[in-house]
Amino acid sequence: MSDKSLTVVRLKKNRESSVARHHPWVFSGAIDKLVGNVESGDLVRVVDSNNQLLGIGAYSASSQIRIRMLNFSGEDITRDFIAKKIQHALTKRKSLLADSNRTACRLIYGESDHLPGLVVDKYADTLVCQFLFAGIESRKAEIVSLLAEHTGCKSIFERSDTTSRDKEGLPQTTGVLWGELPTLTRIIENGMHFDVDIENGQKTGFFLDQAENRQFVRSQCKDQNVLNCFSYTGGFTVAALLGGAKHVTSIDSSAPALALLESNLAINGIEAAGHTSINGNVFHVLRDYQANGQAFDAIILDPPKFAENKNQVPKAARAYKDLALQACKLLTPGGLLVTFSCSGSIDMNLFQKITSDALLDANRQGEIFHYLHQAGDHPIALEFPESQYLKGIACRVY
Ligand code: SAH
Repeated sequence: MSDKSLTVVRLKKNRESSVARHHPWVFSGAIDKLVGNVESGDLVRVVDSNNQLLGIGAYSASSQIRIRMLNFSGEDITRDFIAKKIQHALTKRKSLLADSNRTACRLIYGESDHLPGLVVDKYADTLVCQFLFAGIESRKAEIVSLLAEHTGCKSIFERSDTTSRDKEGLPQTTGVLWGELPTLTRIIENGMHFDVDIENGQKTGFFLDQAENRQFVRSQCKDQNVLNCFSYTGGFTVAALLGGAKHVTSIDSSAPALALLESNLAINGIEAAGHTSINGNVFHVLRDYQANGQAFDAIILDPPKFAENKNQVPKAARAYKDLALQACKLLTPGGLLVTFSCSGSIDMNLFQKITSDALLDANRQGEIFHYLHQAGDHPIALEFPESQYLKGIACRVY
């Protein structure tokens, strides 16, 4: 039974269907009536226009996403309720967690694991959390103690330094929540070794969403001269070299990321002679390579998110197209282009069209032979399409 003392939020008749279909977000414009005082982080009972209960959510006073639904049953949100959600997320990933060849994965992926706004990544014995909305921030202490209890981890670190917290009226914070954090944390991903800088690295330290795509790249690079653009700490670089690439050039604008890339090569027993690091801006370096007549057999493009929202899609599309266009000009005939977008507001159809336009402008022909997606530990909830964000295509370019 649900707590009857909670503030009731009634939705407008023409805006209630999405929550009725278990979409977890209630936008401010969908609210018809709110009776009582409610502050950010408070639980509320969400009802439809006929006052029928839709579920329990948590309120965010300053965000456009005014409520995130925690359930659609009305069950009380207790410690036990959160424990069940965490346990369910762990059970879903049981085979991954039992795989000694893979010591890092996403344990909790927010709305897709029915814990809106909570991200938990596991790097060996350390967990890294992001608390991205007021309703989950207010339960931080409880969540940390449950994670320690249910996962057997040795330390828990917070990386809530994301701009999305600004919309929630929450300060960006990082720091140890439990235990002690080692300077670098070594993980194994499908037999490859990586050191992760949890405290200073990007996002939570590593891009776990590309794990399966790194395996794909590894399978494609034998004897190839590869260019890895936006390499970060060398995920695709190590994969390509262990897959038998003749040479890999990695470009990134972050010097610390490249320093870690070099040591990641060493811990995988890779000879430095097979690799070149370029600390620079990919958009400029690709043009310099054209001017110098350089060519590559395979090029990987994994840029940061260019579109944060729908308004930024046109500008982002131009940037994705420019990258693919410049890369195509460097590819040998029959070369491989692996291009990604992690912008949720650019879907696969649009991304494919952008890439097609780039090839046309480069006067090249291409064909897709493989589609790529975020790894399975970042599941896409059917009722919540916003959980799908990473997409990629592997093309042969003639
Ligand atoms: N492929 C990586 C993740 C890439 S994240 C992996 O599998 O781990 C995006 C990277 O792009 C970051 O390392 C960031 O430093 C870099 N970056 C962002 N803008 C850039 C630019 N214009 N030129 C070069 N690197 C850039």
